[in-house]
Amino acid sequence: MHRTDLDRFACEDLIAGLSAHTGIERDDMRKRTLRSWTGRLIGEDDGRNKLLWLPAAGIYQKSKSFGQQTCVACLQDDAVPHLRTTHRLAFITSCPHHGRLLIDRCPECTAPIQPLYASPSLGSVAICWSCNFDLRRRESLVVEPHRAQGELLRIAQGDWGKLGSFGLVYPLVYFRILWIIYRLLATGRFAYPLREWARRNLDVPDIPPSAIPRIKEVERLPTHSRHHLIQYSCALLAGWPDQFITACQDVGISSRVLLKSSKQLPFALCAPVTDKLHDGDYRPTASEVAAARVFLEDRGTQATRRALTDLLGQKSKHIDELAVPASDHCTYGRNRYWKLDGVSPDIRAAARAAAVHDGHNVGPWVDQVLRAELTKRGLL
Ligand SMILES: [Zn+2]
Ligand SMILES: [Zn+2]
Repeated sequence: MHRTDLDRFACEDLIAGLSAHTGIERDDMRKRTLRSWTGRLIGEDDGRNKLLWLPAAGIYQKSKSFGQQTCVACLQDDAVPHLRTTHRLAFITSCPHHGRLLIDRCPECTAPIQPLYASPSLGSVAICWSCNFDLRRRESLVVEPHRAQGELLRIAQGDWGKLGSFGLVYPLVYFRILWIIYRLLATGRFAYPLREWARRNLDVPDIPPSAIPRIKEVERLPTHSRHHLIQYSCALLAGWPDQFITACQDVGISSRVLLKSSKQLPFALCAPVTDKLHDGDYRPTASEVAAARVFLEDRGTQATRRALTDLLGQKSKHIDELAVPASDHCTYGRNRYWKLDGVSPDIRAAARAAAVHDGHNVGPWVDQVLRAELTKRGLL
């Protein structure tokens, strides 16, 4: 039982048992599980799929999962420290009462917050189960609370969402579209260009695109990264769909990218995308790919699969056939994650550990450190 995400998998028998021993009504108890978001954030939950906006807490498929967040200041104020149901929502990144960034891991040892691992004594959720650090001892960051958060919570709790020219829509539809935009910003080849576009054109925090890690498992993004990406997503959703369509046109996102699993997609997304971003059924022919290869080689660029795909803006089986295999990367020390001539392996390993600790990818972390040093010396 200690391995399950109790918010999601508490069965009726367990709820009945807990209810009998705590005196809390069963209905009340059910409201504290993730099922209370059914019909608004999640459709049917068969227990096997990932839930949008509700990442697993604790362990998911043998890897750490940071789905449980908490506010340090709330824990400090609580007579008996406890967790809040709304802090499970991935788009909630700051505490509405204290204006502080939520934490989703122990600031000391980075273990996920996992109440079932804690000791069974009352209020033990404030103590890290892994290293016994008292979470209340580390002040968390004060952040600018963003307007969208309150609005999102209101919709998650059952209100309608306002979707520009499509008018009012069900929460499920609203959050589904928001998720698609959020994913585009968080991962994949359009993430950086789209972040850059939003940064230049919309009223969003001015953050270099590479400062936020670009990872495939978007549910693993740390709180500070989500805090910014949610604001970017909401800004792109505003004035739906015109602003989003313009952004897609500018950075080259076509309907093929957005409509991969069109059966599941809301009409409010499908309709404008099909209408405005349709890119026909063009696929480069073998001779075009061969010409592109010559073009790249003339310019001294290796015609790898990636270079050809970027040049032609399309994937194609001819590219797979004609591309030059990317050369094997030379290993540099034992660590293959980054490389900078002249930096010794032990420094790289330590930097990597520090970046992981801070919830960053190593690149943005190094960038941040260099930036701070250069600014200090007046060189930036
Ligand atoms: Zn709080
Ligand atoms: Zn810890």
